Amino acid sequence: GNVKTVMTEDEVRRTVDRLAFQVIENHGECDSLVLVGIQRRGVDIAARVRAVLEERLGRDIEFGSLDINLYRDDWTTLDVQPMINKTDIPSGVDGKTLLLVDDVLFTGRTIRAALEAVLDYGRPSRIELMVLVDRGHRELPIQANYVGKQIATARNEQVDVLIEEIDGRDEVQLQHA
Ligand code: 5GP
Ligand code: MG
Repeated sequence: GNVKTVMTEDEVRRTVDRLAFQVIENHGECDSLVLVGIQRRGVDIAARVRAVLEERLGRDIEFGSLDINLYRDDWTTLDVQPMINKTDIPSGVDGKTLLLVDDVLFTGRTIRAALEAVLDYGRPSRIELMVLVDRGHRELPIQANYVGKQIATARNEQVDVLIEEIDGRDEVQLQHA
């Protein structure tokens, strides 16, 4: 289908910087912050945010990842069947602020599953969410604390997030069905 650029390379990079600075605004030295990227592109975005924080704050930021997939075959009920492939979260998240990072927020089902996974794992005092793109169409009362860009989409459209580490360049495109 028809492809439209909705974030250029410059815009993606400036946006990631802005998101990192918003975290510093909220959390100062970020000393009880743990970043958790959701595979696959959420991990790369989280790693970039981490790099900005570490450079700016001059200290290490704890980092983990969550590999979670949803079976999308039965899309008609909220009874999600998440597949937690791999959880790699630092030990000792109790009492910490856990910042989940994903590329795109759509229905909210992935984040709901991620919340269940991390709450099974430990007792953080707070969980926040950062996404590069919020494309709307939520089916659960979930919203992100940090949003790179809100993009109005039709349900059958697709947002393609290209990340240099994986795709060779940074860009966000909207694909019409
Ligand atoms: P949700 O669970 O909120 O419906 O969808 C969010 C998850 O599915 C995210 O992990 C995201 O990577 C993926 N996703 C959903 N819609 C899109 C989309 O339009 N583009 C991309 N790149 N990923 C999407
Ligand atoms: Mg994903």
